[in-house]
Amino acid sequence: MTFGEGDLKLTAVGHVLRALDLLTQDGDVAGVAQVLDRAEVCGLQKCARGCVVHAYIAKGWSPATHGASFSVGSGSINIEFRDGSRLVLDTPDPVSAFITAFDRGEYPHLSALVCGFDIETDEGPHRCANLFRVGTECPEHGPAAPIASRPEAPAVASSKYRYLHVVQGNYGQGWEDLTASENRAEARTDLRAYRENERETPTRLIQRRELREQQV
Ligand SMILES: [Zn+2]
Repeated sequence: MTFGEGDLKLTAVGHVLRALDLLTQDGDVAGVAQVLDRAEVCGLQKCARGCVVHAYIAKGWSPATHGASFSVGSGSINIEFRDGSRLVLDTPDPVSAFITAFDRGEYPHLSALVCGFDIETDEGPHRCANLFRVGTECPEHGPAAPIASRPEAPAVASSKYRYLHVVQGNYGQGWEDLTASENRAEARTDLRAYRENERETPTRLIQRRELREQQV
C-alpha cells in the first residue's frame, strides 16, 4: 500500500464522518433538514449523486484532495477510492429517514431546480445541468426557464424578455461574447465560421435572456 493513497482515504472518510456528525447532531429528521437548510444546499430526488445530502457532504470535497467519490442512499453511503477499493458506511437513522421523506417530495424547499438551458459546446449541444434552490437562479442563465427547449417559440416574441443566441470564445481569460443574434440559425453559422477561422480557440453557443427595453 502506498502511504499517500492511505492518507487520502483517511481524509475522505474523515470528511464524510464529520458531515454525518453535523447532520445528526439533533438526532432526528427535523434536525437533518435544518442543517441542510442552513447550509443552503439543494438536490434532486432519488439521485445517489445528486440528492441534497450528497450536496451537503460534497461541500468542500474535491476528488483531487480526497482521492475518492461517493454516493448516498437511505441504506448506505459508499465511498469509492481511486484504487478501486470502497468503503460502505451505514446511513445514520435520521439521515436515512430524511432521505426517504425527501424522495417522497416532503422537503420542496430543499429540492433543486435544474436550469436546462440549451448550450452548444465543442462536444455538441447539451442542456445546462446547474442546480439551484427554489427562489434563486442559475448563475449563468438566470431563473429556470422551460423556454430552453423551444428558443424560437412564438410566445417568446411577446414576452418582456428577448432571447439571444450568443457565440462565445475563450482566449484564456474566460468566456467572452463574440456575436449575438436572436436567430439561432444565424448564430450557428457564426459559430461555424469562428470554428473554421480560429481552430485553436474554444468556442460555444449559449442562450441568454435579456429584459426587453420598454417600448414607449
Ligand atoms: Zn444554466
